[in-house]
Amino acid sequence: MLVDLKNVSKVYGETQETQTHALKTVNLTINKGDFMAIIGPSGSGKTTLLNCLAGLITPTTGEILFKDKRIDQLSLEERTEHRLTNMGFVFQDYQLLPVLTAKENVELPLQLKGMDQKTINELSLKALDEVGILHLKDRFPKEMSGGQQQRVSIARSVVSRPSLVLADEPTANLDSKTAQEVIDLFLSLNEKHQITFIFSTHDQRLMDHVKKIVKMQDGVIL
Ligand code: ADP
Ligand code: MG
Repeated sequence: MLVDLKNVSKVYGETQETQTHALKTVNLTINKGDFMAIIGPSGSGKTTLLNCLAGLITPTTGEILFKDKRIDQLSLEERTEHRLTNMGFVFQDYQLLPVLTAKENVELPLQLKGMDQKTINELSLKALDEVGILHLKDRFPKEMSGGQQQRVSIARSVVSRPSLVLADEPTANLDSKTAQEVIDLFLSLNEKHQITFIFSTHDQRLMDHVKKIVKMQDGVIL
């Protein structure tokens, strides 16, 4: 078992009129090596669930265990450290820093971990090669296509060999051919390095390739 959510609820908003119950007593176990999609209509709680898994938001009630360790009770600093060590992130809109090159974007999580520059250099070049864009290493995000930028963000998400990668609608902005290539890339990283991938998605193409599907509606897992 990699992550376990126990009776996790999340309520946004202060007053009764503005409250949204985004997650309602959710229980979910994620195992090492899972390749899982969380699906459901817009507003069903997918992003909130991913953000809880990431330790980016604290559940209103319930527990989140990562390898048997409570992460919902960690301090802000401990959580940041936990994310840097154990997790990678991929977003619908790539979230690359525009002033950094592809290689510098991939290096960022390693820089934050305080690794030495020689190791950072080697690991980032290897990650860029693995996602097939080593030749674009000195390009800035605006000089790359959407699919190429998503490859940079995937390289960044796996460069430190995290055990878990969370990807929020990673293929939503990509054309069919590029989306298929990106899905194949996720699959190969899952199989080659046993990295666990959790996607939130509307994308039928991605749903067709995952090994498990978790369906959400109105904050509940169906
Ligand atoms: P999904 O990713 O499935 O579209 P979300 O997790 O983004 O769903 O949203 C679930 C519900 O919580 C929605 O009703 C949304 O409006 C609400 N919500 C999400 N984030 C916030 C927030 N930061 N503040 C208030 N309400 C929010
Ligand atoms: Mg969402």
